[in-house]
Amino acid sequence: MTRIPMALTIAGSDSGGGAGIQADLKTFQMRGVYGMSVITAITAQNTRGVFDIHTVPQSTVRAQIQAIAEDLPPTALKIGMLSTADIIECVAACLQTHRLGPLVLDPVMIAKGGAPLLQQNAIAALIACLLPQADIITPNLPEAEALTGIPITDDASAAEAAARLQALGAKSIVIKGGHSGNSQDAVCRDRVFLPDRTFVLECPRFDTPHTHGTGCTFSACITAELAKGHGMEAAIRSAKAFITAAISQPLNIGSGHGPVNHWA
Ligand code: PLP
Repeated sequence: MTRIPMALTIAGSDSGGGAGIQADLKTFQMRGVYGMSVITAITAQNTRGVFDIHTVPQSTVRAQIQAIAEDLPPTALKIGMLSTADIIECVAACLQTHRLGPLVLDPVMIAKGGAPLLQQNAIAALIACLLPQADIITPNLPEAEALTGIPITDDASAAEAAARLQALGAKSIVIKGGHSGNSQDAVCRDRVFLPDRTFVLECPRFDTPHTHGTGCTFSACITAELAKGHGMEAAIRSAKAFITAAISQPLNIGSGHGPVNHWA
């Protein structure tokens, strides 16, 4: 009997449905993968911003992971918003106990609107406890800089940052170029570092405010493709095509920073 591909997301809930758990489950569904979720934090947000964050108790995060591990083991999993060092330590310990498949780590730190989604003192815990377990980590430029302390201005500094992340234990790395800060750039460059080779994925830079949930959707799509048994490079290329389509055809809902289009 062929096993249905099953993917798990351990992340925060976005009441507005564009990012976080909701983006992940929509992406899993679109990619033909059975989706499951462990909720680490509940955010009150819409396209205008994040208004409240309630962090789920460690014991409830642990119980969710245990319930899934004992009965519905995923074939791949991703980690998104973890909020605090306590939750990071709890999730890392659970993943040591339960081997749940390849791990995609999206080191969510700050929402595009500026709201902090990870406490500043939690970055060290992320590096110590989760980076060594990550099959791939998908930081944007500010996240890669925060994790490594290296300002990234070009391919050489990105390679230096990636080498630092690999030395800390991450096997593969995608440094996403969407936050390059130069909206005049005609292209967006995602730099990919696999254990044995490096390449750049380029796409047009879309002039749109409707990019809410891009990072979550990209990492969820990599997870879905890994869950189906595809290799890392194929999963990354497929996710890049998916997120490019999702940004290029925005839904135009809400009055602010709208969500990407998971149906695209
Ligand atoms: N809310 C949650 C729960 C998230 O996980 C994320 C992203 O990682 C965001 C909000 C921020 O999304 P964006 O920066 O794309 O607006």
